Amino acid sequence: MVEETDVIVVGAGLSGLVAATEIADAGKRVMVVDQEGEQSLGGQAFWSFGGLFLVDSPEQRRLGIKDSYELAMQDWLGTAGFDRDEDFWPRQWAEAYVAFAAGEKRGWLRAMGHRFFPVVGWAERGGYDAMGHGNSVPRFHVTWGTGPGIVEPFERRAREAMKTGRLIFRFRHRVDALSVTNGTVDGVSGVVLAPDDAERGKSSSRNVVGDFALKAQAVIVASGGIGGNHELVRQNWPKRLGEPPKFMISGVPEHVDGRMIGITEKTGARLINRDRMWHYVEGIQNWNPIWPRHGIRILPGPSSM
Ligand SMILES: Cc1cc2nc3c(=O)[nH]c(=O)nc-3n(C[C@H](O)[C@H](O)[C@H](O)COP(=O)(O)OP(=O)(O)OC[C@H]3O[C@@H](n4cnc5c(N)ncnc54)[C@H](O)[C@@H]3O)c2cc1C
Repeated sequence: MVEETDVIVVGAGLSGLVAATEIADAGKRVMVVDQEGEQSLGGQAFWSFGGLFLVDSPEQRRLGIKDSYELAMQDWLGTAGFDRDEDFWPRQWAEAYVAFAAGEKRGWLRAMGHRFFPVVGWAERGGYDAMGHGNSVPRFHVTWGTGPGIVEPFERRAREAMKTGRLIFRFRHRVDALSVTNGTVDGVSGVVLAPDDAERGKSSSRNVVGDFALKAQAVIVASGGIGGNHELVRQNWPKRLGEPPKFMISGVPEHVDGRMIGITEKTGARLINRDRMWHYVEGIQNWNPIWPRHGIRILPGPSSM
């Protein structure tokens, strides 16, 4: 018999954890499926700096930074451009997200115990004014405890929801297909990968020991990007940049393989702006790599090398 739940979330990275904990706390049953082991819970966010985009925060005001929804929206538009027909939904998303960052985001995080380093920094700094690309004021609020500090409240909430039975994890479960009934995605199927105690971030085995299928009223794909899959990066390389490089380094672990994006597209999802990928400027090879071709960066002001 195929196991059923209310919602399936593919991916136990930060996006998947946020979605799953909100769904469980809303009283639904949610199953989170991830190809990696439990030790990698939180995905890329664990490795991140935990820098969060907030607009007109108390931290900014204490430093004398004047920010507003309107200024942040102008900066966002200056970078995004939204110059293609397919940009309709990204624009709606940007407006909603900037409103969230200027509104309830900080209070929502603080209520979970999340805290910020009191000095607000720069990320994606622009041309020092609000007329062009990038942030025109500092908005990069670094999480106290960096990446692990951003994952912790959501992991805690997820473990609480597990106790009530509303949230179930299925680790080492790799989704290979989405199932569709009457035009609606209503499940996932794939293979169970052999247990592997590889350390967090290290590549794990892809040996298959079984298969699985799950059904739900809704399926959320939160499988991350493509940065760990250089073949996919080359396939989507922007034409204006000419030939893609033969050798690249990776700012992200190997599980950021982008496979699920193709699977989702094959099921009918509309993929847009595939040439407009964004990668960290990881300039040099890590002397002590965790994942394959591990790149790191040097962070001199005002931008990284
Ligand atoms: C070094 C570093 C520093 C960063 N710093 C910042 C920062 O300061 N501020 C900021 O905003 N962002 C930062 N980022 C980016 C940010 O961390 C990521 O964009 C974010 O964590 C991505 O979360 P996600 O849940 O979308 O994807 P992921 O974390 O990649 O999670 C996706 C999950 O889906 C699973 N998965 C994929 N395919 C399948 C499948 N077919 N079946 C089952 N499971 C699957 C993967 O195993 C993974 O666990 C940083 C990233 C890195 C690596």
